Amino acid sequence: MNEITKNAQAVEKKVTQQLLSVGQQRLDLEIIVVTKSVSGEETEEIARLGYRHLAENRPEGLKEKQKLLSGYPITWHYIGSLQRRKVKQVVNSIDYLHSLDRLSLAEEIEKRAEKEIKCFLQINITGEETKSGLKPEEISSFLNDIASFQKIKVVGLMTMAPKDANEKTVRHAFHMLKQLRDETREKSIPNAPCTELSMGMSQDYLIAIEEGATFVRIGSAFFTNY
Ligand SMILES: *Cc1c(COP(=O)(O)O)cnc(C)c1O
Repeated sequence: MNEITKNAQAVEKKVTQQLLSVGQQRLDLEIIVVTKSVSGEETEEIARLGYRHLAENRPEGLKEKQKLLSGYPITWHYIGSLQRRKVKQVVNSIDYLHSLDRLSLAEEIEKRAEKEIKCFLQINITGEETKSGLKPEEISSFLNDIASFQKIKVVGLMTMAPKDANEKTVRHAFHMLKQLRDETREKSIPNAPCTELSMGMSQDYLIAIEEGATFVRIGSAFFTNY
């Protein structure tokens, strides 16, 4: 058995156990495999194992992997900061954007997209200065600003836990994001159903699952000796 298959089995085992412990099923969670740091060959191995949600963080990487995997029915996710001038390169070849965090980006998507794009608002929960993302108190006015946009559907909220934080801090951040998701969902905004939670990476996906993640974004745990 190759390394990636072994890693995937280990991830699946942990994910399934954790879901069970919170009374959920494997179908309640989507694992997005983050392929930004690996070769086309490794990405194809993941597709062969049956994974259908993949994420890239650069237009070039996205293009390369899409070409290679054109024979697979992949749902493509774009993660990480997206420059306004690069929107036109990617917006019509992705299904989900996880990093909507400012009005100028939303405007460019609205202008360039040929179909509705499922977006997560990226939230900077802990207010770290160096981190991108809307602050929690900005969510409401941001959604107001984009309420008439036809091409943007805010499907949920996304966050990254603070780097090297302890479990308690990570859990708190994820818990806060869920609360914000719930508050936003309750507003029943037509282009912001906000039912989903994109949180959890290799370091903290088990905590994220406990806190209600519906999408986890996992890279290293699939491809390295994690
Ligand atoms: C790289 C990346 C991931 C995956 O990180 P791992 O630690 O490799 O699992 C998830 N989300 C975002 C936004 C990333 O940039």
